[in-house]
Amino acid sequence: MKILVTGGAGFIGSSVVREILENTDNIIVNVDCLTYAGNLSSIPDHLSSNERYFFEKVNICDSKGIKDIFDKYQPDKVMHLAAESHVDKSIESPSDFIHTNILGTYNMLEQARVYWSKLDDNQKKDFKFHHISTDEVYGDLGNTKELFTENTSYDPSSPYSASKASSDHLVRAWHRTFKLPILLTNCSNNYGPYHFPEKLIPNVILNALSGKPILIYGDGGQIRDWLYVEDHAKALLEVLMNGVNGETYNIGGGNEMKNIDVVNKICTHLDRLVTNKPKNITSFSNLIEFVKDRPGHDIRYAIDASKINKKLGWFPRESFDTGMLKTIHWYLENSEWCNNVLSGDYKLERQGLE
Ligand code: NAD
Repeated sequence: MKILVTGGAGFIGSSVVREILENTDNIIVNVDCLTYAGNLSSIPDHLSSNERYFFEKVNICDSKGIKDIFDKYQPDKVMHLAAESHVDKSIESPSDFIHTNILGTYNMLEQARVYWSKLDDNQKKDFKFHHISTDEVYGDLGNTKELFTENTSYDPSSPYSASKASSDHLVRAWHRTFKLPILLTNCSNNYGPYHFPEKLIPNVILNALSGKPILIYGDGGQIRDWLYVEDHAKALLEVLMNGVNGETYNIGGGNEMKNIDVVNKICTHLDRLVTNKPKNITSFSNLIEFVKDRPGHDIRYAIDASKINKKLGWFPRESFDTGMLKTIHWYLENSEWCNNVLSGDYKLERQGLE
């Protein structure tokens, strides 16, 4: 089977690419325009040299470029992950989010529809456009005990989540109106190896190791439901292969944690693992500083993953503790990747919030 993956040089996309190359026989076409968040070094040489792997540097907003990819590779399925993904960046400068997340998804859908409409009946039936989205489209659970289900109304708070919500609506419209076979997944916050250091967990680890302040928005009381990225990649493949046409699946780790507790946990692990601490600090938690909260910052997200658990038998393999230890070890052992990605536009001192 040939799978076209967009955004395969990003954090989650590269995990999907590694998963497919390591654990399946499928052919993969990775389409990514390599923004600051895309890094080909997230797919190690022994995998990118595989004859089942193809890379195309194309922007998903480029209609001719994407049409040519469909014509050239004739994919059986599409996994659409390419997006602008950082909430802070969407507040500073929403334009790229509107272009890539909304217009780019529109272009992917249109090119997929034209390609799909010419397939024979069997290929048509098996084809799937799998749109990878976020739990942030559902908005803020506040101080309630509720969970997001697949039927929760959309109520996005940030330009990022609003642009992802728009793209979800487009995907459902292309299914309803044009009968394009689609799958949609909404996942909670991911963490793990190859995570760009603008996001909370890698930002905390790398700032701590270099003795820089660990900046936390507000009182750090925001709650997120953390999922190890390789568990997400496995869930996505399960949905792609066995999900029901037109259905949505929520994916979550069942690991609700306050940001401040996540940060303290990282500091505790680092205190044990790193004997040579910077700046004569006694604990990495000495570096924590609280800063003014992000505007519109949602208080709590939490996923009800019972549909994917029951219908597809998917459960996360990693607990937050095992996943976090693997993640910290990975960052301690892969300074070359970190230096490589940080040589671009982004500054490590930025606040790294979910
Ligand atoms: P990321 O920012 O790490 O990677 C995005 C990738 O898309 C990069 O490789 C980038 O180069 C590429 N890209 C961006 N704009 C493009 C364009 N116009 N054309 C082609 N390629 C482009 O993002 P991520 O964290 O891996 O997220 C992947 C997807 O999963 C996104 O759709 C995101 O909304 C969704 N998601 C992320 C999380 C999370 O916790 N990170 C959780 C749930 C869902």
